[in-house]
Amino acid sequence: MKTSVIGFPRVGTLRELKFASEKYFRHEITAQELTGIAADLRHIHWMTQVAAGIGFIPCNDFSFYDIVLDTAVLLGIVPRRYRELNVSKLDTYFAMARGYQGESGDVKALAMKKWFNTNYHYIVPEIEDDTVISLDCEKLTGEYEEAKALGIKTKPVVIGPYTMLKLCRYVGSKNAEDFADDVAEAYRQLIAECDEENVEWLQFDEPSLVRDMDDDDKALFHRVYERVFADRADCKILLQTYFGDVRDVYEDIINMPFAGIGLDFIEGKQTGQLIDRYGFPGDKVLFAGLVNGKNIWRNHYDKTLNVVGQLRDKKIDVVLSTSCSLLHVPYTLKQETKLSQDYLRFFAFAEEKLIELSELAALAESYNYTELEAYHKNQELFAGTRDCNSDEVRQRLAAVTEADYARLPKRSERQALQKKEFGLPELPTTTIGSFPQTKDVKSQRAQLRKGEISEQEYVDFVKGKIKECVKWQEDIGLDVLVHGEYERNDMVEYFGEALGGFLFTEKAWVQSYGTRCVKPPVIWGDVYRKKPITVDWSVYAQSLTDKIMKGMLTGPVTILNWSFPREDISIKESISQIALAIRDEVLDLEAHGIKMIQIDEAALREKLPLRKSDWYTEYLDFAIPAFRLTHSGVKAETQIHTHMCYSEFTDIIPAIDDMDADVITFEASRSDLQILDSLRENNFETEVGPGVYDIHSPRVPSVAEIVKAVNVMLTKIGRDKLWINPDCGLKTRGVPETDASLRNMVEAARQVRK
Ligand code: GLN
Ligand code: ZN
Repeated sequence: MKTSVIGFPRVGTLRELKFASEKYFRHEITAQELTGIAADLRHIHWMTQVAAGIGFIPCNDFSFYDIVLDTAVLLGIVPRRYRELNVSKLDTYFAMARGYQGESGDVKALAMKKWFNTNYHYIVPEIEDDTVISLDCEKLTGEYEEAKALGIKTKPVVIGPYTMLKLCRYVGSKNAEDFADDVAEAYRQLIAECDEENVEWLQFDEPSLVRDMDDDDKALFHRVYERVFADRADCKILLQTYFGDVRDVYEDIINMPFAGIGLDFIEGKQTGQLIDRYGFPGDKVLFAGLVNGKNIWRNHYDKTLNVVGQLRDKKIDVVLSTSCSLLHVPYTLKQETKLSQDYLRFFAFAEEKLIELSELAALAESYNYTELEAYHKNQELFAGTRDCNSDEVRQRLAAVTEADYARLPKRSERQALQKKEFGLPELPTTTIGSFPQTKDVKSQRAQLRKGEISEQEYVDFVKGKIKECVKWQEDIGLDVLVHGEYERNDMVEYFGEALGGFLFTEKAWVQSYGTRCVKPPVIWGDVYRKKPITVDWSVYAQSLTDKIMKGMLTGPVTILNWSFPREDISIKESISQIALAIRDEVLDLEAHGIKMIQIDEAALREKLPLRKSDWYTEYLDFAIPAFRLTHSGVKAETQIHTHMCYSEFTDIIPAIDDMDADVITFEASRSDLQILDSLRENNFETEVGPGVYDIHSPRVPSVAEIVKAVNVMLTKIGRDKLWINPDCGLKTRGVPETDASLRNMVEAARQVRK
């Protein structure tokens, strides 16, 4: 049985591509040096797959930034403002990805969005009315030939035409339908080009097929592919789907001229049923996505081989595949020197998943695989216990009742009590939590890590920063203060370190976007709070001022969504455990005199299911109650805030209100304030701080500008419900612009109050 990889990570085992690209951005290396490093990495990645015996090795899955942007370039979708820079092809590409400011002009980057239900972000291609779709397959054929020169026959990968049409932003008056034929034509030509190159298989990634598709979507899909398949070609097309099942078009695609169809058996809940019900044609190859491309746990061979067996009983020609690109998992376990084998043997990163694919393929070929060693070793992993359960955590969760999910008294009553308790002015001013993480802060943390300073020296340093920060905020005249979050490197890792059940890796980086990588912790076992996390810092900060000090926590949904979750218990159960741990911290803060507590849910929307029909039955139904569980135990007078890093929740406003926070701050400054209309239409009850200026840019907003924004907000939100704050934390900003911006913000609030 053959094996296939949908895509391989590209930043390099030790993030070589990231560092090289950043050097290039700083003009420390030339374009030639950068492309040389990229070629070396591709070489290594192909050879790793060859060594593991992978049958279908991808090419063109490499990217300097993002594969959607690469596909846009392949189709000639380069907005005029970038073309007009007249810089090299590579620099035009980077200008779209990250903006350009220099001799040739000044343009912002294209928008960036979350890639389906992952933590990866893609660049949103922009189509103008006069965009001319024209094929440029230099990169694709270049990589194909590069591999061929190394003696490796690869399978080029591109994002397919339907998904591209769905993901592009149409900035003029035209829409996807208007470009459908031209885009299809480009893919038809691409097939012809690949035919010329003697490419045997060409992979079209079409993850948009796993979303809900209406009749218009289906019509678009058919219209495009009729044209794509207009000619006869020897090059075989693999329709690759992932992140779910293709229930809306399964019957269609099995009757279309694809030589192979890639289906996700991990996240595709109905994939098996679809095959049972409608069959799978004998003249096509099924690329069965059975090795999880998104999570880091070892594959359960017995289960996988059972599925393979069932498919083969149906006489289906099966290729064993990853469930999605391996881009979403780290490179290799080999770099993890600190975690013991007791843990590591349960994990498979990208390289180890290659081994799993080839072991599984070999086992599947064998009559009596249950007698083979690879099978036995794998069985052993799953037979024993993993030493990850805590009876105490289980019992505590089992004892949670409906009442624990509901805070009393109801919010309207609380809001009145809290107004009295705090005596804040109308339109209270505050910030989202972090203050600039200046060089000194980072260097002290690094010194602590290296043992160059003592724990006490570090604590004293952070306390000094907090003291400065409190004074600074008092001087600016903010109403509700924060301690500044100087002690945290990251909103999840910092909390995970104080929680039982979490594991941390050293080099397990995953690309988030472009050169940015994240290192998600692993939820290994039952989660509980080992020790107080933020209490000392918050109590110290409160002791320095008569103003209200807001405690600052990360919420359970965000902690889970930014970690690798367990597979042996449900997400719901893990989130609930984390919620109880955070609840302990909330109550501890309250007991120590902290009267306002913000529980950030920056990533709440991230794991919202791709199909709308699943939103309330498979996610919000437990994610929202989990948030309530964190704060339902506090007194009526204690004010609970939450913060979300976007404003795209127009479609789930009732769920957000249902978190039952007293105040929510979010990022509305860049979204035309449209969300405010929706809040009003939905009778949103939570007090809101929509964010009066954009912290993602160093620009200082003027008083007049903020006054204007606040006045617009006041036309939609009651005066008694509006808060004045920046739209996110200030940790990435410099001190001077932060000072100026906050002073303008406070002054603007004063003017509007008058
Ligand atoms: N409290 C956090 C901060 O201010 C929130 C960060 C975030 O929303 N990503 O940094
Ligand atoms: Zn934020």
